[in-house]
Amino acid sequence: MSKRVALVTGAVGGIGTAIVTELAKAGFKVAGTYIAMEAKILPDWKAAREKEGVSCELFEVDVTDFDACIKLIADVEAKCGPVDVLVNNAGITRDATMKKMKKDNWDMVINTNLNSVFNVTRNVVEGMLDRSYGRIVNISSMNGQKGQFGQANYSAAKSGIHGFTMSLAQEVARKGITVNSVSPGYTATPMVRAIDEKILKSIIAQIPAGRMAEPEEIAWTVRFLADERSGFINGANVPVNGAQYTCF
Ligand code: NDP
Repeated sequence: MSKRVALVTGAVGGIGTAIVTELAKAGFKVAGTYIAMEAKILPDWKAAREKEGVSCELFEVDVTDFDACIKLIADVEAKCGPVDVLVNNAGITRDATMKKMKKDNWDMVINTNLNSVFNVTRNVVEGMLDRSYGRIVNISSMNGQKGQFGQANYSAAKSGIHGFTMSLAQEVARKGITVNSVSPGYTATPMVRAIDEKILKSIIAQIPAGRMAEPEEIAWTVRFLADERSGFINGANVPVNGAQYTCF
């Protein structure tokens, strides 16, 4: 049987890179997206993946652009084959308290973190329905479950992902498609590691595990949900937060 195809958005970011690596190791043919601004880091990124023996076809797209996502899926399917696994991972933060939040910062976060999930999924799901198979994994956030001071935009978008996940799962379950979300807590990506040491210490002090997640731990959860054998886990959210926020 030919390899299953997995598409990861935000593939060259901290968590995206770990997901690409994990899925490639699991035997998927991996396609990833990057945004034009990231073009300058691509040569180093590709060289690092080659060194690890990881191959990934990269496609440029702005996931906030619905028409660009139509083209993305056509391009991925032409080059790699039908998408069996979709990981909606691209995301941004633009934190501010409500009094200071600019309309732009609200719109950018909702467009990038929530509307993008519709833009990409909408263009993948019909193919999955036709083929009666699919795994969709949406990267949400612990802060989408519990809210976070200064993150009304981000928490609203990430919380919206949960509603999207639960609803779509009910629509497509009969056709062998699962739709789940993963909610990471603080994760030690290069961006987070760059936070001022004092602030970082105070963040870690609030995590019962006494440390942040490694990107590979988020990637492992994605791999588990992307596996064929995870077919009865559907409409679920998997928290990966070192017991920082517990609920059921
Ligand atoms: P990164 O910024 O490293 O990765 C996000 C990726 O998405 C980047 O490559 C980014 O590009 C890309 N991206 C941003 N906007 C767009 C767009 N419009 N179109 C296409 N791609 C875009 O962050 P992380 O790896 O930390 O985050 C990955 C996911 O995990 C996000 O959804 C985030 O919200 C979530 N998450 C992260 C946590 C953490 O502690 N790190 C905790 C909880 C959730 P660019 O770099 O150019 O912006």
